[in-house]
Amino acid sequence: MNLDLEDKVVLVTGGSKGIGQGIALAFLEEGAKVGIVGRNLADLKAAQKEGIKIFQGDVTIAEDRERVMEEFVTNFGTIDVLVNNAGGSNGSSVMETSIEQFEEAMHLNFLSAVDLSKKAAAIMSGKSDGGAIINISSIFGRESGGKPTYNASKAAMISFTKSFGDEMIKKGIRVNGVAPGSILHETGNWKKRLEQDPVKINSFVEEHISAGRFGTVEEVANVVVFLASKKASWVVGSTLNVDGGQSYSNF
Ligand code: NAP
Repeated sequence: MNLDLEDKVVLVTGGSKGIGQGIALAFLEEGAKVGIVGRNLADLKAAQKEGIKIFQGDVTIAEDRERVMEEFVTNFGTIDVLVNNAGGSNGSSVMETSIEQFEEAMHLNFLSAVDLSKKAAAIMSGKSDGGAIINISSIFGRESGGKPTYNASKAAMISFTKSFGDEMIKKGIRVNGVAPGSILHETGNWKKRLEQDPVKINSFVEEHISAGRFGTVEEVANVVVFLASKKASWVVGSTLNVDGGQSYSNF
């Protein structure tokens, strides 16, 4: 399938590691021009290669979002695709988690993406070929399998994807999302947990993931590049589960 992404200009937040890095590499393979955002300069430099430009910034800080978007557009001239991938988990049970931690999670997993999406959409609206925004949430935004802060902020992201998808399709911008299940990669949480307690984590996989294994970053990235392409022209406001059957509640 020709995805026709050659020379498209793509910004991936959290593109220095894990799923985001896999997404950046998948776009690069399609011939796109890619920028990645992260806080840690050493990790960004390690992920830098021909065709991938790095932009250091913290997506939870408004000034950084403004500066990164400006630097990106100055560098590439425009933006065709935004992937809001930066995210993470904090807190524990609701009673043991402070309101400040809930706020932090909302800023990282949700509000940063809202602001960057608005900035990207403002630029994409002025282009004849529109654009695509892809939000990385989680099946836990539907199934409550993670920490309460994480579930709530990812649920907000899924809802936002629907609303903004409906709003922006009128301007030729498709907003969609991917909700990954449990993905194993070198720097990720699952790798740490697997090393700490292999018996527990292997039985979790057997019991909860229909496919009987963790997913890979490439399996998520494949769906993201498809959603960014014109081949997904009738997919609007959707968040696709990419989870080996893990979301068996089937919401
Ligand atoms: P990861 O390995 O922890 O990588 C996170 C990436 O985001 C890194 O590049 C990190 O770089 C960047 N990042 C984190 N906070 C940032 C901030 N404030 N500003 C800018 N960049 C920031 O995570 P992952 O496992 O690849 O997950 C990527 C996304 O998929 C997240 O949204 C996560 O919630 C979602 N997800 C993951 C899984 C899974 O099983 N791994 C499952 C479902 C959904 P710096 O630390 O240098 O900033």
